[in-house]
Amino acid sequence: MTLYQLLTEGEQKLREAKDAEAQLDARRLLLEAFQTDTVHFLMNRMLQLSKEQTVEQAVSDYWTMIERRCQREPIQYILGSQEFMGLTFRVNHHVLIPRQDTETLVEQVLKEHTQSERRAKRLLDLCTGSGCIAISLMVKGGFRYVTATDISEDALSVARENAHCLLEPGCQLKLCRGDLFQALEPGGKFDILVSNPPYIPTSVIRELQPEVRNHEPVTALDGSPDGKVFYRRIAGEAEQWLNPGAAVYLEIGYDQGEAVCGLLEEHGFNNIKVIKDLPGLDRVVRADYG
Ligand code: GLN
Repeated sequence: MTLYQLLTEGEQKLREAKDAEAQLDARRLLLEAFQTDTVHFLMNRMLQLSKEQTVEQAVSDYWTMIERRCQREPIQYILGSQEFMGLTFRVNHHVLIPRQDTETLVEQVLKEHTQSERRAKRLLDLCTGSGCIAISLMVKGGFRYVTATDISEDALSVARENAHCLLEPGCQLKLCRGDLFQALEPGGKFDILVSNPPYIPTSVIRELQPEVRNHEPVTALDGSPDGKVFYRRIAGEAEQWLNPGAAVYLEIGYDQGEAVCGLLEEHGFNNIKVIKDLPGLDRVVRADYG
């Protein structure tokens, strides 16, 4: 048995399970199981594998991971991480896997606030999940006063771990458990509000890829029958938590721009604008308060 044989057999199994990235995924799982890199793989792929215990364990780990991927478990949950804004975030099935689309939101916040504003402003991230938005704004943007909330204690544990691994010592992310603003201590006021809330209409969830519908946390996806309950609640409840002139940035579904702009307008927001993601779809709504 060689690494090359393991790779091609694994790839074949993934193809049969309709994994669109069978070749790439088999390679990544093999490298992970053998704790090696592409260079070593390419040098040694034709050598017969030894019968050593550690090698046999790696082979068995590989087949376990291939089997999980055949069940269409996202590779990020199998490997335990995902890149976002150039940082490596730990993920598990309690949090949504960070999407490249969400970088649009982070980049928009960075674009609109100077370095010195970022150091002074108080920022709130609702529905933080893995913490990818809040933490990348701190690491890449220099924000220092950041609070992030989530309804799930399990999600907050992941965010806590990411904060521990990615933030400089002395830099603290305040994590609070609760339903949107209910997580916050009374009286808190913020200058920037960001959120990627659940926004998929309930009936659409069953049409998503098996990776998403069967493995990602439904509470992080389900935005009620019309997909917009969290936008209504955020727009309606934000007032008492925002300083005058505060800016709000919400990730949205590709077809929710008009509706979310309308909700924010009804609640007294202005300078409302829809921002597109890299593929050109509506992805973020930004607005100012007061
Ligand atoms: N963008 C995610 C998806 O398409 C959904 C994220 C969300 O509901 N906040 O699966």
